[in-house]
Amino acid sequence: MYFLLSLFYSAVLQFFPGRLVLMNLLKSVNTRLQNHTGNEMSYETFREWLDNEDQSLDTALPEGERWVGCQGSVPHLRRYPCGIWTLFHVLTVQAKNTGGTDPQEVLSAMRNYVHSFFGCRDCAEHFQIMATESLSEVNTFSAAVLWLWSRHNRVNNRVAGALSEDPNFPKIQWPSPEMCPGCHSLKENGEHRWVQDQVLPFLLAHFSSSSILTDYLE
Ligand code: FAD
Repeated sequence: MYFLLSLFYSAVLQFFPGRLVLMNLLKSVNTRLQNHTGNEMSYETFREWLDNEDQSLDTALPEGERWVGCQGSVPHLRRYPCGIWTLFHVLTVQAKNTGGTDPQEVLSAMRNYVHSFFGCRDCAEHFQIMATESLSEVNTFSAAVLWLWSRHNRVNNRVAGALSEDPNFPKIQWPSPEMCPGCHSLKENGEHRWVQDQVLPFLLAHFSSSSILTDYLE
């Protein structure tokens, strides 16, 4: 479990385009994780580490939650699960843009993170099944970006209309034709077809580091 946390940290550290103060904090915690002996650690110990960091925790991760892109219409909707998807889409795109070495690295970190730490056990199980089915076939960075996009759409399809759906953010096959007209096409028999040559550049732009507002003010 502890080793898996370390893999997650490693992927975030390499590819997350975060503020310097946050990345320094993560780097320092990661070094401590690498040097830690033993197979497990209590939450209290981990929390103590964070509290005793030289980098001010308050500056890197200010107290209180302020959701922006994942703000729900009511407090129990969107937020953390939305943040997990968004984080990993950004990481797959950054791994492609910054020349990672292993196309499966980010997806494996996500798979392990979701398997070990994601509170919704049904969700984790479904994700694990999808990963077991086809993650090993991902052998380019573009394929990793598209794999996560298509699996996210499978989840959207499965959970559309569920209680967890925010009525202001209906689960759709994403991106919508309004967001990316060129991503959609029709087969000769009239069935919908994704134009992956258009979807990929759309995802690369949508989840690029330049789309992140590091100084967002309400
Ligand atoms: P989310 O689905 O969380 O998406 C976040 C944002 O990503 C969207 O607002 C949109 O901007 C963008 N987006 C949407 N679709 C795509 C796509 N295909 N590719 C790229 N970007 C996209 N809930 C369940 O009820 N059952 C489950 O089995 C389940 N499995 C989950 C598995 C995982 C790994 C995770 C992280 C979450 C799972 N959830 C599941 C939660 C669910 O998928 C949503 O995260 C949650 O309902 C919040 O939805 P949201 O409207 O904020 O959008």
